[in-house]
Amino acid sequence: MLSEYRKKRDFSITPEPMPVREKIGKTNIFVVQQHDARRMHYDFRIEIDGVLKSWAVPKGPSMNPKDKRLAVLTEDHPIEYSDFEGVIPEGEYGAGPVIIWDKGIFANAKEYSLSEAFEKGHIEIFLKGEKLKGLFSIIKAKLGHEEKNWLLVKMKDEFASEQDILEKNKSIISGKDIEEMKASK
Ligand code: MN
Repeated sequence: MLSEYRKKRDFSITPEPMPVREKIGKTNIFVVQQHDARRMHYDFRIEIDGVLKSWAVPKGPSMNPKDKRLAVLTEDHPIEYSDFEGVIPEGEYGAGPVIIWDKGIFANAKEYSLSEAFEKGHIEIFLKGEKLKGLFSIIKAKLGHEEKNWLLVKMKDEFASEQDILEKNKSIISGKDIEEMKASK
């Protein structure tokens, strides 16, 4: 219903509010889980159509619009996965510690639906987490023939920053960092 308001404005430029609350009613969840499996990575997951679309981000998210972080599409996860942290046992898929590095809600920043955005390979969302805030894009990278490669990029807005957000390394749930989680099993 606010499509005309949105269409007339570039929220990366204007200080006017981006309408988030309208969408928050739909309570789209996002979660970022730090996961020390064979390789350390951050699983970036956003709710689309009742599942968590998921990407593994080896270098983790950044608040700096200059950083383009490789995000490798992985399998859909259930919404309940957004509550999971702990240690996946040895011998199981993805064995290793997981912490909930960030979690919150998000709004679609595009005029078309999230599932359409996913199909187009061009998602723009406004995140409201404890660590990640503001506009982000997740765009399918047209690099070679690898369909699974996307890029996670912070878009320019008042939340953009050159500070390394990964220095905030503790779980927002338990307060443990990934090493403490590993030791806690
Ligand atoms: Mn993972």
